[in-house]
Amino acid sequence: MNLIMNLPGMKDVLVKKVVEAGEFIQIHLELERRIHRCPTCDQRTKRVHDYRIQKIEHLKWFERKTQLFYRRRRYACTCGKRFSEKTEIVERYQRTSVEWNQAVSIRAIKGKSFKETSEIYGTSSSTVVRRFDQIANNEIKKVELLPTVIAIDEYKGDTREGKYQLIIADGVTKQPLDILPNRYKNTIKHYLKKHGANVQIVIMDMSSAFKAAVQEALGKPVIVADRFHFCRYIYWALDKVRRKVQADFHDYDRKTCKRMKHVFHKANERLTEDERWHLARYLDMSDELKQAYELKEAYCKWFKRAKEIGQEDIITVKQELVEFYKMVELADISELSNAIKTFKNWQIEILNSFVYNYSNGFLEGINNSTKVIKRNAYGYRSFLRFRAKILLTNQYKRIGTHIG
Ligand SMILES: [Zn+2]
Repeated sequence: MNLIMNLPGMKDVLVKKVVEAGEFIQIHLELERRIHRCPTCDQRTKRVHDYRIQKIEHLKWFERKTQLFYRRRRYACTCGKRFSEKTEIVERYQRTSVEWNQAVSIRAIKGKSFKETSEIYGTSSSTVVRRFDQIANNEIKKVELLPTVIAIDEYKGDTREGKYQLIIADGVTKQPLDILPNRYKNTIKHYLKKHGANVQIVIMDMSSAFKAAVQEALGKPVIVADRFHFCRYIYWALDKVRRKVQADFHDYDRKTCKRMKHVFHKANERLTEDERWHLARYLDMSDELKQAYELKEAYCKWFKRAKEIGQEDIITVKQELVEFYKMVELADISELSNAIKTFKNWQIEILNSFVYNYSNGFLEGINNSTKVIKRNAYGYRSFLRFRAKILLTNQYKRIGTHIG
């Protein structure tokens, strides 16, 4: 057999024979003799010194473990230098092929866990982790200067470094940029002082620690409160009222009201007939709940309009928000009054979200995929490795999972 094959990663390889040996497929191969330049004196040579068989672990073939028996040629130069031929099959001092290394690296990023990857490739977890750390080292871009618009959010990482971590992303391109080991004010402040000279807009949820850190580090950037986060305060307030009120309902109504709680959140015009019936029933049973619900609807109306006109006419949006405050104050329901307090504390940032039209909803998506990563690996103890896994997973999003 003397087949020239263009196998992936093994261009112009001369396959001499393929043997099945126990659980292995062994491919015997060599390269064609070619002119090489001497690494010492740069002269051209084609003179063969000798051959050495190099055994290389390769990717599975037909679901069988595969080894390459590479008959590697050494050339001799007139200057006395002897050197190995150039090849793309294997890197120096490696016992695994370049193809294998790449596949394991990508799988280490995309796969469920290092352990699973090691089982698929018939290697040890530590080998997989080593390849992963290497790729993390080479591929994760170090942040020097943050872009002009950034979004920050926390997620529950549960690593040795702490319970919560802070993710920082580009607010425009939506690419995650960095992850801080915790969400403490001083950590964020220190980081922003170092890397935030260009930052003009920061999108965040309503954490006073985040706000203080940003203001102390960056002076007066525009802070945009995330819409999803501030809307939640109104929904939470309504939930609290519902739970308080339904506790006095009779058994049956209490249970169905709890089960049907989504009807209170859903936009009124989208309710089905059945949902509308239930909603009307519970609202009839309590004036307080009815009032709270009507305030939520008023809020939704304001929110919808703010989205529509916010960029041209934020003054009107602000006036209508103040009108909404007055309605809440008049109703005098403590749960909603408390929500309004938060709104007043964050009013500028809330209004900014309509002027600038940024949100960090996309970070929610990234944090959801982070949850899956964490669960698949039964958690990460090392913050740095978890950080690398999250950043690389997002960087490699568009690279196929079919490898391996
Ligand atoms: Zn030479």
